[in-house]
Amino acid sequence: MKYKHLFFDLDGTLWDIHRNAEITLQSMWKQFDCDPNLWEGFYKAYLHHNHRVWAMYRQGTMTKEELRTARFSRSMDDVGMNYSMELMEQFAAAFVDQCPRQPHLIPGALELLNHLSGKYIMHIITNGFKEVQGIKMEGSGLSPFFVHNINSEDVGVRKPNPEIFNYAFELAGTRADESLMIGDDWEADIIGAKNIGMDQVYLKLNNQRHNVHPTFTITSLIELKEIL
Ligand SMILES: [Mg+2]
Repeated sequence: MKYKHLFFDLDGTLWDIHRNAEITLQSMWKQFDCDPNLWEGFYKAYLHHNHRVWAMYRQGTMTKEELRTARFSRSMDDVGMNYSMELMEQFAAAFVDQCPRQPHLIPGALELLNHLSGKYIMHIITNGFKEVQGIKMEGSGLSPFFVHNINSEDVGVRKPNPEIFNYAFELAGTRADESLMIGDDWEADIIGAKNIGMDQVYLKLNNQRHNVHPTFTITSLIELKEIL
């Protein structure tokens, strides 16, 4: 078998960040007494801004501290909400506290990992905040499957920077040509792995079109059982 080591992205690939974030924000909306009429507009704006601020964080044009609040303050600005800086701090802190405790996984995640377990050595490479990724993995039952959890904050650079992949290979004692990257983010996971010569599985959950072909493209995690 060609591949020995599998490197998985966490958020949006195994741990269902969109579902978990929506459930958390919905409950926080009540907890913080926000106007129910503004929920839909806020959540739509949040999806837009969250995507953008994470891209800025990846590129190093936004700090973690700024990201923590900007994803919410920009969304609340869009729907014309008034809030104090103090409330924004509390809101951001509550999200980082509550969201990682949500247990929902991408459909098929546990079935797939059970299928792969024992056949491959598996690791996580994530750009997510270090203090919460462990909580997500423990709470959702992912932890036992993975040997190394590589966090961008430990390396000092984020995917798609080649340094984080080199760090991962060294830690795992492997090379690009016997490893496979599985992820849902085109830039961070797919371009990142491709640039370093590692094969890629793109979990394509939206209709974005790209002019580069990944090694494999799947539209559900379970399809990976046929490849591996
Ligand atoms: Mg992801």
